[in-house]
Amino acid sequence: MAGYTPMMEQYLSVKAQAADALLFFRLGDFYEMFFEDALTAARELEITLTGRGAGQEERVPMCGVPYHAAEGYISKLIDKGYKVAVCEQVEDPSISKGVVKREIVRIVTPGTVMDTKAVGEASNNFIVGVALTDSRYGIAACDLTTGELYMTSFPAARETVKNILNVYRPSEAVGHAAALEYLRDENTSPALLTTERETADLTSLAVQFPDENWTSHEPVRHTAAAQLIAYLNETQKRSLSHLRSIKAYDSEAYMALDAFTRRNLELTETVRDRSRKGSLLSLLDRTRTAMGARLLKRWIDQPLLDRTEVERRLDAVEAIHKDWMLRKELRDELGEVYDLERLSGRIAYGTANGRDLIALKTSLQRIPAIQELCRTLGSQPLTALADRMDACTDIAESIEQAIAEDPPVSLKDGGLIRTGFHAKLDELREASQHGKQWIAELERQEREATGIKSLKIGFNKVFGYYLEVSRANVANLPEGRYERKQTLANAERYVTPELKEKESLILEAEEHMADLEYELFSDLRTAIASQMARLQRLAESVSALDVLQAFAEASAERRYSRPHWSEGDGYDLLIEDGRHPVVEAVNENGAFIANNTSLTASDGSILLITGPNMAGKSTYMRQVAMICIMAQIGCFVPARRAVLPFVDRIFTRIGAADDLVGGQSTFMVEMKDIQVMTEQATERSLIIIDELGRGTSTDEGMAIAQSVIEYVHDRIRCKALVSTHFHELAHLETSLSGLRNGCMAVKESADGVTFLRKLVPGAADSSYGIYCAQLAGLPESIVSRAYNLLKDTPAVGTSHSVAVRETAVSYAEAPAEKPAARNVVQLSMFGEPSIPAKPVKGTSASQNDKLLEKLRKLDVMRMTPLQALEWLNDARNQL
Ligand code: ADP
Repeated sequence: MAGYTPMMEQYLSVKAQAADALLFFRLGDFYEMFFEDALTAARELEITLTGRGAGQEERVPMCGVPYHAAEGYISKLIDKGYKVAVCEQVEDPSISKGVVKREIVRIVTPGTVMDTKAVGEASNNFIVGVALTDSRYGIAACDLTTGELYMTSFPAARETVKNILNVYRPSEAVGHAAALEYLRDENTSPALLTTERETADLTSLAVQFPDENWTSHEPVRHTAAAQLIAYLNETQKRSLSHLRSIKAYDSEAYMALDAFTRRNLELTETVRDRSRKGSLLSLLDRTRTAMGARLLKRWIDQPLLDRTEVERRLDAVEAIHKDWMLRKELRDELGEVYDLERLSGRIAYGTANGRDLIALKTSLQRIPAIQELCRTLGSQPLTALADRMDACTDIAESIEQAIAEDPPVSLKDGGLIRTGFHAKLDELREASQHGKQWIAELERQEREATGIKSLKIGFNKVFGYYLEVSRANVANLPEGRYERKQTLANAERYVTPELKEKESLILEAEEHMADLEYELFSDLRTAIASQMARLQRLAESVSALDVLQAFAEASAERRYSRPHWSEGDGYDLLIEDGRHPVVEAVNENGAFIANNTSLTASDGSILLITGPNMAGKSTYMRQVAMICIMAQIGCFVPARRAVLPFVDRIFTRIGAADDLVGGQSTFMVEMKDIQVMTEQATERSLIIIDELGRGTSTDEGMAIAQSVIEYVHDRIRCKALVSTHFHELAHLETSLSGLRNGCMAVKESADGVTFLRKLVPGAADSSYGIYCAQLAGLPESIVSRAYNLLKDTPAVGTSHSVAVRETAVSYAEAPAEKPAARNVVQLSMFGEPSIPAKPVKGTSASQNDKLLEKLRKLDVMRMTPLQALEWLNDARNQL
């Protein structure tokens, strides 16, 4: 560091402690950045890059932001995925010798932003610690703004890691390189910042949670939590007193929903633009508090597997649902409750101001009424909830006594503390008040004595109090009455010894007052912080109540009904007049057609749905999944009546355009999903596959579809809804005892086809695909050409079927009336697959020979059906 100025040397040594962060180095009223950091910040923040002499020949790059505007700039950088280390002057510059001492007081990172405006009131911001040992993976997730902390562990499979992380959507992850590796290419969170750390020291955990019995937890959870806590300690550099307890849970306690299924069912955000609006979450979000809104998301993300708990929620919802008057009162009361979790977070962090304490007080004052309403509603779970609530009246009272009714945002300028709370403060206030009165009196007296009506007493920060006389009146002033202090264009300003004396009394009192108020305020805040555990427990109960009333409110508004559970081993699933909650809600004219679903021992557990595009197949299938999920989060369901099994997992394979994101073919993605399904589905799962077998050639697709259906039927034996455009598959109803055909009814008339959106037994006999094309406005020539082609195709397979073919006909060259019979591959499900004898264009004969050779050597008996299918797909791609 030779040759740098002492200040720059200090900068460099501080910077060395935060090499991976941009260092905001406090210099007077600015935070300055130097060297590389300055280049980055100037670019990202679009601020001017300058330079500063630093003792060497070349000036070092520099840029800066005013300290009072720093938060905005920091948020911007965090959003862009940077960490920001904030370095402050930690001693008073007026008394320090040499360079003022500076230290990093906090490192702001995406997962530790405390600015809740940036995070969003209704959203959590999680940071996770991750760990890996042998075959187990551990996750500890924390939201610093609310003090929530969770940990869980599970078998170390990429899929599972992805599924669990989907619940948290962390913005940051810390841990061992090997554990972080699992998050690498997973698109769990778009801006996930990862920080590698060596194995964490477990003592940080013991210090943070002295009451926790760590030996009762799996070691991989310790490591994950220890990584997280150590990192939080390093970056936050303050006590994390609001992280009081860590909630350990088994991921098996919740319904398993893979990321794809969550996304596809649009549980918490839409597929198209990832917005909350249009998701189940926004539909059910009739919460009145931000903490309730956050908990609702968690509940939707984690449907329960514990029937008792679900019943408790449903009992509560039913009670609130039944009584609209009490419900309204309850909603009104909850509407007065502020975000207790985040208020607590700010109190613990020492960033809460007077208004936060008032918000806490007014919230706490609503609790007794809320408890009362819960008890009046009369359901046991609600009474229990009310009993668990502690209104913390002592805290509310302490705030009431100390804090002024309408305190300012700032903590340094006084006005925070109520009169009568502290004798010394009252004295000082009186002194200042007194002084001010004296000054007002002086003004009056001097006007009278001098006869100058416009004489006034003013105050500014540089000169203090002064008497001001306008230029025109100066001549009227008796000589030597005042001491001249300042000359302005239009006036003269004066002082008197008495005025100065009073001034120093007033200013001294005011300064003392501000200091004392701040001190009293901090003491109160610290005292409340010591009650954190009580506040957090209260927040938990209130947010749960808020979600329960939101369920009741949404259920009442949308005519949902309480679900029942099927008894016995049959796991029957019966839905009468079921509706898709979101499609129904956006269907403004209320024209949603309800449908029944019966997946039972007698009606079969697999429903194979055929029918034209746009008939409503996928809506129907999704609605069954949605109803199961809604029931297991404890909400009423959109159906006249529903008797449901407890579902342990829902798999959906629903084709969507964005399958292609990862560069994988739709087909490969489908096969992988199905592979996961075969591995993990149990008898108690629900499987939904839309357009099974698309994305590859027709014959292969159909073969795959059939074998997958057979596997689900014979091996997994769970409930399944499968849609397909292969009408030929309808024959499976005769060979598989547990499978029924269904189709979406369509009415044909002279005017065209009407979709009735009604599920009826049996298979569809036409795909109406061309009709759809017509509806979509394709040119008439294409449509009539397609009808012609269809007519000319000889039927194959069952009587239901429509022949499907691949043609290479170009419309331009084809004669209008008769299709050219070129390259038409006739497909039969039952025919022998033909291996091309001649090499296909672009493929050499030797390549094909090699492929045939590989095929001969294939040990088919040792392959799973899916491996065989994957092989088949690979082979085809090599052709
Ligand atoms: P498919 O999967 O058969 O192609 P979709 O399920 O995508 O059809 O439905 C097509 C459109 O029909 C959807 O946009 C939806 O708005 C509407 N729709 C589906 N089911 C119903 C229903 N039961 N009642 C009213 N409209 C429906």
